[in-house]
Amino acid sequence: MIIEGNQKEKDAMKAFHEGNRQMGLELQEEFAAAFREEYKNRDHCPCKKACRYHGNCKECVAIHRAHQEHVPNCMRPILNAKLKLLSELTEHTIANEIEAPQEILIK
Ligand code: SF4
Repeated sequence: MIIEGNQKEKDAMKAFHEGNRQMGLELQEEFAAAFREEYKNRDHCPCKKACRYHGNCKECVAIHRAHQEHVPNCMRPILNAKLKLLSELTEHTIANEIEAPQEILIK
């Protein structure tokens, strides 16, 4: 089961957007049930940092909500895809003005 871009969840969102909330909720629960089963004993967290909270979404998200500086690692590709589209408006020249913080540059 692939989480990112999962077709079942995409179908659920389509149903929500079309006003079919019941269908959206059913598809969403099917996704959640499959996720529960598949990742019962497997690591679902794509974060590569050595971190005490790896895979513990409840505490990871609470920490990020608390400091308000950035979002958890697993959510960055979603935001970056949206930001990349906006960045095209200035031919990505924002890249000349920004640099990732040191902890991100460490391999
Ligand atoms: S919220 Fe945090 S712990 Fe959960 S998958 Fe994302 S990065 Fe990993």
